[in-house]
Amino acid sequence: MLIALRTDLPSWLWPRAAYIHVPFCAHKCGYCDFASVAGFDHLADRYLSALEREMGMTLGQPAVVDTIFVGGGTPTRLDPDQLERLMAKIAHWFPLTKGGEWTVEANPGTLDVAKVELLVQAGVNRVSLGAQSFRPALLAALERNHAPEEVERAVELVRGRFPRWSLDLIFGIPGSTLADCEADVAAALALGPSHLSCYGLVYEKGTNLWKQWQAGQVVPVDEETERAMYETVIDRLALSGLSMYEISNYARPGHESRHNLVYWANDAYFGVGLGAASYVDGVRSVNTRDLAAYLRRIEAGEPATGPTERLDAEARARETAMLMLRRTVLGIDRNDYELRTGYSLDGLLGPALARFVDQGLLEDDGQRLRFSREGRFLADRVLCELV
Ligand code: SF4
Repeated sequence: MLIALRTDLPSWLWPRAAYIHVPFCAHKCGYCDFASVAGFDHLADRYLSALEREMGMTLGQPAVVDTIFVGGGTPTRLDPDQLERLMAKIAHWFPLTKGGEWTVEANPGTLDVAKVELLVQAGVNRVSLGAQSFRPALLAALERNHAPEEVERAVELVRGRFPRWSLDLIFGIPGSTLADCEADVAAALALGPSHLSCYGLVYEKGTNLWKQWQAGQVVPVDEETERAMYETVIDRLALSGLSMYEISNYARPGHESRHNLVYWANDAYFGVGLGAASYVDGVRSVNTRDLAAYLRRIEAGEPATGPTERLDAEARARETAMLMLRRTVLGIDRNDYELRTGYSLDGLLGPALARFVDQGLLEDDGQRLRFSREGRFLADRVLCELV
């Protein structure tokens, strides 16, 4: 039996999206705070069996979804047989609606013709490539283990085989200048992506990069330069037809990541695999990030989740406002917001929002609230205050 797309329940209660996590990487990058492991490829077959078991335990029966995102880690680190096995299991447990979006993350150097063909045959229609930078010194600062030429080779492989593909870039890398940032954006644009994710570097506690910063071995880019970099990214991409639609994401019209829009609408989603988060029927849960514990628990037929959390209605409404505001074009539509949360936006957050409008950080056309251009540079502060 198949669970059809549950159109009887709203998208914020019943998922139309699924995230599947594959944690294996060639090595651990210095800035990485994801649930990823290096040197554990020998556990990949066992992990795939656990994933399959977890999908069965979570769903009971296959559930139709509108978007699938296979992230990591590096999903394309799996060998062709393992990748084929994973794709088949995902297609079984999460059949995709007609016209649905199926994204797989890939790292340069891990794709070849056989893997690309296998993904196409499985029904994958979007690839997200982690380029991060095209400057060898900056890739070294991030402890990435690929060369710029490998990004170009990976793009050659995916271009023409997938209707949509995206590149990830990072700016604000220690040692980088505004000219480096301009050169990276130009190099990315030269490859012709229809979608770019472009993040300012974050020093996540516990990472190698964070330790180097704490020890005074690296100096973060100063705030003024980082702002100039962000401005360069926004303006240069807009000139090339890639409009900002979220504070770190840019796309040609119609090429936005539908899966990520689910998160920013605070809609429900399934999540399976190491460290994966789920949000189903108002309950949030996150799987353990410990690979051994994940395998042990799933193999024992137990869920791998940590404590679950059901937000009360007001907390969920505040969270929804914060997530929706990240969408720089859609922003928060007052009617949609009230329908989804049961709260009037102005009743719940009116004074705070009015203050940000007065400060020129938000724009209000009476129906929608969005970040102003200036507000995008101070988005973290605004979003923090709203929660
Ligand atoms: S490739 Fe990605 S997931 Fe893997 S270690 Fe590097 S940043 Fe983390």
